[in-house]
Amino acid sequence: MNDKLLSERLKMVARFVPNNSRVADIGSDHAYLPCFLMNNKQITFAVAGEVNEGPYQSALNQVKRSGFEDVISVRKGDGLEVIEPGEVDVITIAGMGGQLIRDILLGGLEELLGVKRLILQPNVAAHLLRKRLAELDWELVEETILEEDEKIYEVLVFDAGNGSRPYEGLDGMELQKNLLAGPMLIKEQNSAFKKKWESELIKREGILRSMEQAETISERADQIKNERDLIKEVLS
Ligand code: SAM
Repeated sequence: MNDKLLSERLKMVARFVPNNSRVADIGSDHAYLPCFLMNNKQITFAVAGEVNEGPYQSALNQVKRSGFEDVISVRKGDGLEVIEPGEVDVITIAGMGGQLIRDILLGGLEELLGVKRLILQPNVAAHLLRKRLAELDWELVEETILEEDEKIYEVLVFDAGNGSRPYEGLDGMELQKNLLAGPMLIKEQNSAFKKKWESELIKREGILRSMEQAETISERADQIKNERDLIKEVLS
């Protein structure tokens, strides 16, 4: 396939796939990512998993057009049920919310046995992945944030390892802040990161102002105040 077809977002996901891996791309849609990886000879085998008929058909067509039917297996099914334990080394899941990605992973703990790396690109709520995967001993080893077409994306890379290592010595607000915005991204503070969190801060302040006008006193307001304070810390 033509490399220009692939978004910068998916190219960033591809960059973290080790050479000679066997990959499952879950929620693959058009299967651009596994075709790109195969075209670049970066992987030896892939599963393109899709739960919905339309995207499943797109994936089948793209794989056929690319001539990769022998090395990319397009499978229809929910989440990780399309792979067998030990079949792949790397799982990529991109372009969904953090909650859905988390639920897909939690729904397939058995299929995760033998997987060495997870490369995840949540459109929102990356913190849910940092937190839950640390608890399951998936160690955050790389993370990056980029802007494309005025949208900001995070890519998180977890290896089977020591889930608490990136947060060692952190507790209280400091730990919450690192889970929310990412320990490596906080250190780097690139322009996409600043743009994202400045906009998240403005959103929280707007919500709090409208709550104050409506004289709403609620747990929700406390939660948003807490998030606002964390974001101020992230940006400081
Ligand atoms: N991964 C591609 C990308 O990043 O460009 C496609 C992202 S698209 C927004 C999300 C895809 O995930 C859809 O094609 C949808 O059908 C699929 N999907 C959603 N839930 C799924 C699940 N539980 N299992 C497999 N695929 C799923």
